[in-house]
Amino acid sequence: MNTLGIIGGLSWASTQQYYRMINEEINRVRGRQASAELLIRSIDFQPVIDAQVRNDWNAAAGLLCDAARDLERGGAKTFLIASNTMHMVYDQVRDAVGIPGLNIFDATVAQIHANGLRKVGLLGTRYTMSLSFFREEYARRGIDVIVPETKDAARVNEVIFKELIHNQVRPESQGLIWDVMARLRKAGAEGVILGCTELELLTRERSQTSNPDLGDVQIFDTTALHAMSAAEWLLGTSSYHKQ
Ligand code: GLU
Repeated sequence: MNTLGIIGGLSWASTQQYYRMINEEINRVRGRQASAELLIRSIDFQPVIDAQVRNDWNAAAGLLCDAARDLERGGAKTFLIASNTMHMVYDQVRDAVGIPGLNIFDATVAQIHANGLRKVGLLGTRYTMSLSFFREEYARRGIDVIVPETKDAARVNEVIFKELIHNQVRPESQGLIWDVMARLRKAGAEGVILGCTELELLTRERSQTSNPDLGDVQIFDTTALHAMSAAEWLLGTSSYHKQ
């Protein structure tokens, strides 16, 4: 098995989910005591957040490029960035190393296309929900995204940075996320992208919701889809990323 490098710590609460999900999938397929060959370069989130707040994406890119170089030096044969927001600098990171990356948009959109959807809601940090970069990344892959209204977007962003990145899950925040998804559904979203790698912490228990407006909304969890694409790469079964 080849070695995958994960740029993590963005936040640690979601990096541990990638670690679990990738290992579970490798073991499900390979059986016995098989697990994944991984390098995790978990970096200090504070300077990354400081750079985001200053809108200094070059500084943030520098931090991730250094991490990617560490992974390459350590023997990783491909890398992934375990954050949607930090895909803002994906191209710079990929260009800083000689190994390919697994892009979170490719992994997510493959499933949206497989399910036959075209118009989906997008939840994430305020950067992910407001910067045109994200809308355009989905658009050039054939997916129209709609985002929550301003007040909902602000609350989702606050929950991510005040609670989820610290691995805190509050019942009122679980309720909020289902309500925001229901409003996106009403606004015409056929499905909803959990476009922040911590959001799955809130939605694990679908039975928690009793909101009738949710209907049969399909949820696309970027953490699980990205982790699954990583497992497929490790297993050599990926249809769009050859080892
Ligand atoms: N993990 C989050 C994401 O997927 C947010 C943290 C960050 O700002 O990088 O966007």
